[in-house]
Amino acid sequence: MADHTTDVCVVGAGPAGTTLALLLARSGLDVVLVERSRSLDREFRGEILQPGGQALLDALGVLAPALARGGHPHDRFVLEQNGRRLIDADYRGLPGPYNRLLSIPQPHVLSALLDECAHHPGFTYREGAKVTALVAEDSAVRGVVVREQDGEHTIRASCVVGADGRSSKVRVLAGIDGGRVDAFAQDVLWFKLSGSHGLPTDVRVFRAGGNPVLAYASSGAVQLGWCLPHGAYKELAASGFDELKQRLIAAVPTHAARIAAEITSFRDLTLLDVYAANAREWARDGLLLVGDAAHTFSPIGAQGINLAIQDAVAAHPVLVGVLGKNTGDAVVTAADLDAYVRVRKPDIDRMLKIQTIQSKAMLSTGRVSSVVRPALASVMSRSPLFRLMLDKIAFGNRAIRVRTDLFTADERPAERSA
Ligand SMILES: Cc1cc2nc3c(=O)[nH]c(=O)nc-3n(C[C@H](O)[C@H](O)[C@H](O)COP(=O)(O)OP(=O)(O)OC[C@H]3O[C@@H](n4cnc5c(N)ncnc54)[C@H](O)[C@@H]3O)c2cc1C
Repeated sequence: MADHTTDVCVVGAGPAGTTLALLLARSGLDVVLVERSRSLDREFRGEILQPGGQALLDALGVLAPALARGGHPHDRFVLEQNGRRLIDADYRGLPGPYNRLLSIPQPHVLSALLDECAHHPGFTYREGAKVTALVAEDSAVRGVVVREQDGEHTIRASCVVGADGRSSKVRVLAGIDGGRVDAFAQDVLWFKLSGSHGLPTDVRVFRAGGNPVLAYASSGAVQLGWCLPHGAYKELAASGFDELKQRLIAAVPTHAARIAAEITSFRDLTLLDVYAANAREWARDGLLLVGDAAHTFSPIGAQGINLAIQDAVAAHPVLVGVLGKNTGDAVVTAADLDAYVRVRKPDIDRMLKIQTIQSKAMLSTGRVSSVVRPALASVMSRSPLFRLMLDKIAFGNRAIRVRTDLFTADERPAERSA
């Protein structure tokens, strides 16, 4: 590959970066999407997509092609304690047509988005390109340096968008504090078991023996996340694989036989350090952070993908508004990007509060919590606040809509379907 000059350089082809790249390309901008990995098939990425994210992907025409590659609808989110149902959030009671949860492997969503991006002459995908440095001039970000197979190259841009996930290199290179908050008391140990046939169509957090477990059916598999107190895994792992496996079987007795057969070494388990984060700054001259790079949530609340897609849709009109007028080599300023920050900051702050409540209500351990939880859950799930929270969790900010009016004339829905 070679050096490149573009309107926008998006770093990271996750849900945030790929959605934003498509929106900008459809609006006639020149976009380079940089991704360090050569494959979309990365294990243990989020799969549960809330209704709000589904609606936006549908408005982009990519939900149906993504689902055609495989997906699994879920009617409800359930919290269970020793076989007793404490919370039953039935998504079918929400306004349609997206009144369900979907488990859909991220590679399906990303490849449907990338297929659409590929139709645009102004779009360039540089996979296997890892950002190693920012290009800075007069205290503004002017581009990135990427390492590719044939060496290092510079991509200059009027705006660099850091969509490179929770450990964002772009954020670190810019010296922006990630704003980590240890809001959650648990880490999650993920694993997959084969065969989802006959499983209930819900996303479930349950406790059978000990710590809570998240479980849902995905394409041809069951995804499970065993919640462990922060830092406890190290000690557990030190007790040896066999001991850990016995504890796992005790926590998930319904899948005991499959765990015994399929979880055969530490390699079958992936530990996720769970924390919340809200970066101190999201925008600087020439730089915007979106998705997990700007804010990180617990995977148990299934918000990350939803918020990443909504970030992209909210950033689109702001970037088009500035760059549509931009002649030549000007930089998008932090003041320009403030229009985005003002919309998204309250949404993200609100969602972090909701997730903290959610996590305490569902996952806290100890005898007192276990005794009090059923009574609290019963009161809470009948309160109007519960419906309100469910609506926010499901749809996020409903005012965020795909601005098809900013697309080039041949990209507007009426033209595309003609
Ligand atoms: C185990 C697990 C389970 C989860 N479950 C759910 C769930 O069920 N539902 C949900 O909504 N959320 C879930 N999440 C969270 C969700 O996956 C994220 O919130 C979401 O993927 C964020 O999207 P993103 O585009 O911001 O970042 P990411 O999806 O993290 O994408 C970032 C991209 O940037 C690339 N990148 C990183 N560094 C560089 C670099 N230096 N140069 C170039 N490219 C780079 C990465 O390879 C990656 O492709 C889960 C997360 C984990 C880890």
